[in-house]
Amino acid sequence: MENKVIPYGKQNITEEDIKVVIETLTSDFLTQGPKILEFEQKFAEYIGCKYAVAVANGTAALHLCALALDVKEGDKVITTPITFAASANCVRYCGGEVVFSDIDPETYLLDIEKVRGLLAASPRGTYKGIIPVDFAGRAIDLEAFRKLADEYDLWLIEDACHAPGGTFKDSKGVDQNCGNGNFADLAIFSFHPVKHIASGEGGMITTNDPDLYSKLMQLRTHGITKDDGQYINSASFAAGTESNKYPNWYMEMQLLGYNYRLTDFQAALGISQLKRAGEGLLKRKEIARKYESAFADKQFVKGQSGVIRGHAYHLYIIEVEDRLGLYNYLRENQIFAQIHYIPCHLMPYYRQFGWKEGDFPNAENYYKHCISLPMYPTLTDGEQEHVIKLINDYYK
Ligand SMILES: *Cc1c(COP(=O)(O)O)cnc(C)c1O
Repeated sequence: MENKVIPYGKQNITEEDIKVVIETLTSDFLTQGPKILEFEQKFAEYIGCKYAVAVANGTAALHLCALALDVKEGDKVITTPITFAASANCVRYCGGEVVFSDIDPETYLLDIEKVRGLLAASPRGTYKGIIPVDFAGRAIDLEAFRKLADEYDLWLIEDACHAPGGTFKDSKGVDQNCGNGNFADLAIFSFHPVKHIASGEGGMITTNDPDLYSKLMQLRTHGITKDDGQYINSASFAAGTESNKYPNWYMEMQLLGYNYRLTDFQAALGISQLKRAGEGLLKRKEIARKYESAFADKQFVKGQSGVIRGHAYHLYIIEVEDRLGLYNYLRENQIFAQIHYIPCHLMPYYRQFGWKEGDFPNAENYYKHCISLPMYPTLTDGEQEHVIKLINDYYK
């Protein structure tokens, strides 16, 4: 075992996964075939939302959400600095302005009280939306964010990349699935190999809003529609002669869209992986429980993800003293722990807008101590025990 590399996250491809991909490759469709719709429907069912739109990756999903919600030059949008940069970048793709706001040091999630403070301190209409992130797989309380957003007429995009299968308890005691569309206008997921469900590259947008759904479907394919109920040009123009019927070839580009389609064979892989999502989630929770009890009484651990109801455990994070030393020690022993994340506002790209050290003490302090331990369904008991032992040894 000593020589085997243990990463922080890893995909699991089974014989069944390989079989369905090969079957799809030899079918009549490589892109936008029947597997896309099947994946969308099954994913929507898993998440408990009305509509799902499969796209090329999670970043494309975020970009399309920002376009569908009409983010424009100068629009201010609030998000957390402790996330993957894509959560913020989608605002910039549309010329909007990213306004970061600090995290809660206990949950590592965007602190709603800080956001409330920001909103209250500016004239109404200053901000357009909020992008909360279910960071590490911990579901953020979207009911509370919806209430706040409604007070200020804001939209919500939930970045649920870390949390398919995650839930939070609402004020009536009902479990609400991440991405179910009951509170956020739109939610997004990624099928990058380190995430719960892998399709190579891939992403999904979920919503309960039929208008946003049809706009997203159009934006995913160049802004083109083939629905004659939606056509703007006349049937006579379309036919090239006097006519009240649109010819079969006709289609219209009505919006400036992109090619953000997923392929049919990626969708087939996604469907196959989705079948094991529930099982994978249970395994992640079991791994979390083991870490939690291993480190519960350890003085060198200053904080940890712990065992939290509804947590989807994309990541298991502990906060430690001498994080650099531990990280290097684990690497020397072939354990590739990772740091999530370098605060977004301190990336050189975002520093140019004036963000600087000291802006977000909770996020910055978290960054100094955090480390994500190996967490994926195929991590064996023996491997996890080996990781725990090395960490204990390091601090002896
Ligand atoms: C992975 C991830 C994304 C981007 O997804 P890609 O499929 O890699 O483009 C966005 N936000 C978060 C929080 C992520 O973890």
